[in-house]
Amino acid sequence: MMGGEDREIGNNPNDWLNCIHPLDRERFDRTLSTHLEGCSPHFECEYRVGLKDGYIRWFRVRGLAIWNENNQPERIAGSQTDITEYYKVREQLTHDALHDPMTGLPNRTLFMDRIGQAIKKSIRRENYLCSVLFLDLDRFKLINDSLGHIAGDSLLVEVANRLRECLRSEDTIARLGGDEFVILLDNIKSAEDSVNIAKKILNTFRKSFMIDGQEIFSSVSIGIVLGGPEYDSPDDLLRDADTAMYRAKHLGKNRYELFGNHLRVHALHQLNLETDLQRALERGEFSLVYQPIVDLDDHQLVGFEALVRWQHPERGIVNPVDFIPLAEETGLIVQIGWWVIREACLQMYNWIAKYPLFSKLSISVNISSKQFTQHDFVEQIRLVLEEIGLNAPNLNLEITEGSVMQDPVSVANKLRQLKEIGVDLMMDDFGTGYSSLNYLRTFPIDILKIDRSFINQMKNEAGLEIVKTIVNLAHNLKMQVVAEGVENSNQSKCLKELGCEYAQGYLFSKPLDGNTMEAFISELPL
Ligand code: C2E
Ligand code: MG
Ligand code: MG
Repeated sequence: MMGGEDREIGNNPNDWLNCIHPLDRERFDRTLSTHLEGCSPHFECEYRVGLKDGYIRWFRVRGLAIWNENNQPERIAGSQTDITEYYKVREQLTHDALHDPMTGLPNRTLFMDRIGQAIKKSIRRENYLCSVLFLDLDRFKLINDSLGHIAGDSLLVEVANRLRECLRSEDTIARLGGDEFVILLDNIKSAEDSVNIAKKILNTFRKSFMIDGQEIFSSVSIGIVLGGPEYDSPDDLLRDADTAMYRAKHLGKNRYELFGNHLRVHALHQLNLETDLQRALERGEFSLVYQPIVDLDDHQLVGFEALVRWQHPERGIVNPVDFIPLAEETGLIVQIGWWVIREACLQMYNWIAKYPLFSKLSISVNISSKQFTQHDFVEQIRLVLEEIGLNAPNLNLEITEGSVMQDPVSVANKLRQLKEIGVDLMMDDFGTGYSSLNYLRTFPIDILKIDRSFINQMKNEAGLEIVKTIVNLAHNLKMQVVAEGVENSNQSKCLKELGCEYAQGYLFSKPLDGNTMEAFISELPL
């Protein structure tokens, strides 16, 4: 067992005890004395022996001392078992429970434990500082979807290797799952240290990755939080690093962001809005305002755009730019979107019933991409129209470049079905997203809406040129044009000269609630 010849190990207990690995010897002796002093009912210890060939074996020894009549231990009877295999399995199981099998990095459990230890250190030691970096790969889903999961996994393994190279041996890097990695920087001197590491990481991503012979460029967004005594739970540290990471994504990806008080407030704000948003639908806190769209030739009314408003019980009116992104993220936009369509159709139906001349006007409704990609979107639109009794030509749908370019082939189909029903289609905020002109040509879109940021720039030569180009492009594609955000008569005159058909903006009217709008239009000569 001990790896020696018979004659090499004699009868003396020390012949045996001297084989024990130096690292285990003290523990062994202590356990044995405890028993011999009568303080433990039996002796049991696990220890290593270094064999001559360099192998280490693990043994478990168990024994019972025999005392003579003078109460002196005289001998010990017991057994020794080789537990090396058992030990290896146990170590492997512990390792597996604490590591991510794909990258071999520590997992969340181990990482949280390490943060816990760092927090304890920061409470005990003055001037101790640690930092957590939360990393999320940018557009990883795209790589997974286009190259497949196996390539995605290979990329994650490569990323893990590269990240390891950026760190010191005392730092911990873990994979939380998906494309999320976290790093604990232990015992740093200042925020600058963690910022430098973040910069180093961003830098290593400039080099491409070779995956299956394909060159892939990837980048990462990093949130940084500094851990001090004010944190008493690992979860809080991780949460704040996550918040900072989201901020980094929001600010354009491939960058780092430090968590600070401004983000704490922002995160709370978002959190409250999120719960409030859930209740807003049930409590009927949403309403619509309407903005006229006019013909640039004679300034005659041709329709309205319906814009949603949220009457928050404490905050007052919340504008869509402040809650639509949140509603999209949480998926609530779908419910809100259907409420908006119904409400807008109902209003239009009532106006037409009251003023028959309105039957040539149309109401435009903004459609979020989450809603548009619902598989039964077309059917639902048909049902709403039927239920309310509004004619399809009185409804226009405003979609964005983002929602149609995600999956152009199936989108083309959907758009055609909508045209068959008879609703008109508008491309909203044209120029702010990413459009493939090739697809645009094949979509049955009736009207392009030029985003107001372009109209705003018309005072410059270059800005004017862009608007001119968009108008020409639309006409070549047999589409008409609405200019958004027209605020003065110069713009209006200029747009008319460029051949732009329609406009909306504060020059003609701000968005108004239904009653105010009705009072306004009932005065109009139609
Ligand atoms: P959008 O569809 O491009 O709407 C036009 C925005 O420009 C509206 O802002 C409108 O009030 C504003 N606007 C109109 N004329 C002028 C002007 O002359 N000058 C300036 N500076 N602004 C003008 P609003 O109502 O805050 O809506 C912002 C965005 O929120 C909308 O942009 C749209 O993308 C989204 N949105 C609004 N209502 C809905 C909705 O019911 N569903 C969805 N999915 N999105 C909506
Ligand atoms: Mg719009
Ligand atoms: Mg727009």
